Parts: sequence; C-alpha cells; structure tokens
Amino acid sequence: MRDFSQDHRWLSINTATVRKSRGADVPLLDILDACAARGIRAVAPWRDQVASAGLSRVASALKAHDMALSGYCRGGMFPATDGAGLQAAHDENRRAVDEARTLGAPCLVLVVGGLPGALDGKAADKDIARARAQVHEGIARLLEYARSCQMPLAIEPLHPMYAADRACVNTLEQALDLCDAIDPALATADTRPADLGVAVDMYHVWWDPKLQAQIARAGQRRLLAFHVCDWLTPTTDLLLDRGMMGDGVIDIAQARGWVEDQGFAGYSEVEIFSAANWWQREMGEVLDTCIARHRSAV
Ligand code: ZN
Repeated sequence: MRDFSQDHRWLSINTATVRKSRGADVPLLDILDACAARGIRAVAPWRDQVASAGLSRVASALKAHDMALSGYCRGGMFPATDGAGLQAAHDENRRAVDEARTLGAPCLVLVVGGLPGALDGKAADKDIARARAQVHEGIARLLEYARSCQMPLAIEPLHPMYAADRACVNTLEQALDLCDAIDPALATADTRPADLGVAVDMYHVWWDPKLQAQIARAGQRRLLAFHVCDWLTPTTDLLLDRGMMGDGVIDIAQARGWVEDQGFAGYSEVEIFSAANWWQREMGEVLDTCIARHRSAV
C-alpha cells in the first residue's frame, strides 16, 4: 500500500469540495489556481462549473498547470417517462463524454438516476425495476459512443438513501453486475482500464458487508476511481453534510488497501459536499485541511 503520509502527490480534489468559499460560489479557474499553488496535481471538475468557466478555458488552464483529472462529474440520469426523455438523456450524456475527452479525463463518472421526476420532488411512478432496466439500456447505448471516443465510463453506486432520486444502483455488486452484463469480455492479462467500470466512493459504500469481496471482484481493470470523505454521526443533511476524512466513522485506509491490493494506483479524490461547515470556510483552509487529512486519514 502506498505511503500517503509524506506528500500529497496522489491527492485529487473534486471541485465540488470548494465550490463555495465562505458561502459564496468560487469560479472553477480560481479553484484550479488554488490547487496548483498547493502542488495538488489532479482535480475532478463538475459539468456546471466547467460550463460557467468555459470548456476551452478550463482545458487551457489544466494544461498550463500541468494538472490531471481523476474523473469528470458527471453523466448518468438515464431514466425517463418516455422515449423523448430517454433520447434527451442520451444526447446529454454524449455531450458529457465529449467534454470529458476535451479535458483529458480518465473516465466519465455516471450517477445513473432514479425514478423519473423524483429529483424535482414528483416521482412519475413507483417502478424502480423499470428505472433500473432503463439504466441498463442507457449505459449499454452510451458505451458504444464512449468506446468510439476511448472514454471509459465509471458507474458510481450511491448509498441506498438516494435510490429514489439520484441513483437506483446502490451497491458495488449491482454496479459490477451491470458491468459484467454490458461489457463482459475482459482479458485479465490486459491492465488497461476497462471500457466500463466503477467509481468507488467511500461515502456510499463504506457500510456494505460485501465491500471487500466486491472490490476484489472488480479487479484492477474495473476500478476506475476512488472517492473519499467521511460519514458523520449524526449526519444532519442527506446530501450536503459529508465529513472531512478523519472526522467520521469510515476506515478509509483499510478500503484504500483493498483497492490497492487489486492494483489500483490512481488518485484518492476528495469529494465533500458540506453546506453548513466546509462550504462556509475559506477555500484555502479547506484545501490545506484536505492535504493534511490526505496524509493522516486516507
Ligand atoms: Zn463520488
């Protein structure tokens, strides 16, 4: 297992972590500057932040800073009530693939979606099996395009509390079942990333009794991303109360050992949504804390 205690060369910052500083929105280019000034070598930006800053300007800034991506956030949201909705989701996802490619991302992260309409507070139906079938079909269709662009897709299972509105794929086992069904031919002698794999976000999967076994099942080729933060007790908001590594109950180092046992050698991406705490602090303080905790608690 790599020693993270001496430096932060394998730290990546998911830019949502500092999308706000003292409660105010931070432009993505400012985030990139602040990361570069601290020797942070990688980031994972969100599409809305990239759109605000301008895709080509972000690509230029990444190049100027010699900064890598650990992933691009995000595609997905496949389910819909009708064919037009499914097509719209597909078209949007193709654009996300194109942007990921322009930015040189190693993978496009997929948050697959839940019941159509639920994210807006009005689920169109209660048919989660149908949503899951649409997710399966949607990923299979998108994969054809993503393959032609050489952009791996990383399915991110979300904690079951998001099954209705954000992702009806809730365990690593479910995500890997999809991978095996849609993209079955994986040569084990090959070490390149699979066309379809998973993003392991500890916030979502830490509780799973099958976690270690499913990480082993994924193997190096399907382990495309590793996201870290912490689970606070109590958690006061289902979406926006993620903790800084070391402040909660997740044994992050243990799980990092499991993914590295499989040969994962990528970045540990810090992804914290924290409306009442970290987004209220100064961006510099948050980044410095991420660096310190990356060394001590990841
Ligand atoms: Zn994540």
